[in-house]
Amino acid sequence: MSATVLVVEDEPQIQELVAVNLEHSGHEVLRASSAEEAEAAIRAALPDVLVLDWMLPGESGLSLARRLRADARTRDLPILMLTARAMEQDKISGLEAGADDYLTKPFSPKELAARIKAVLRRRAPQLSDDAVEMEGLRLDPATRRVTAGERRLALSPSEFRLLHFLLTHPGRIYTRAQLLDQVWGDHVFIEERTVDVHIRRLRKALEPSGHHRLIDTVRGSGYGLRAD
Ligand code: CA
Repeated sequence: MSATVLVVEDEPQIQELVAVNLEHSGHEVLRASSAEEAEAAIRAALPDVLVLDWMLPGESGLSLARRLRADARTRDLPILMLTARAMEQDKISGLEAGADDYLTKPFSPKELAARIKAVLRRRAPQLSDDAVEMEGLRLDPATRRVTAGERRLALSPSEFRLLHFLLTHPGRIYTRAQLLDQVWGDHVFIEERTVDVHIRRLRKALEPSGHHRLIDTVRGSGYGLRAD
């Protein structure tokens, strides 16, 4: 499972240690040394997971986590907090602020990698290599095959990622901006119309087997996959 991880840590040695270890685990790592730098990076492109130090110069990691949770665009961004504080009350504050998990310094790089994997499996199933299936429509990320019953479908990489995201998040409507963030990783430079074009192509590819009916369009709102 490979993800884009934004590491927010002001101590250069720890930032380096964390970044190098995550890169060794196959992740793409972005770095920030303050809440402000982290916000700028997130504005540019939504990462898959945030590794966030509690004690930062200026705004604390805890405060940033709280603000990210209050914003619709970053509400679901998985956050793993790093801290030197080990007191029970601090852990509770971190989790209340919206962190998904918590790691106390010093920690082993192995443990960090394992925790990130667990957070991603729970919160970002579209990054997993597990095959997903719905009503005979099957997508296997490991082999990059999509089949409708016995028939193999030819999808472009964008349509493949779009279908993967929808199959792993059924029963919920996503706006075009959210889909750009989640599937294209860019909500600034790509036009929202792009989403409509790819949904149309995906529908067309799914039409012969009737699976195009799984895709829900909510006019003026966005797209999703039917939950049943
Ligand atoms: Ca720090």
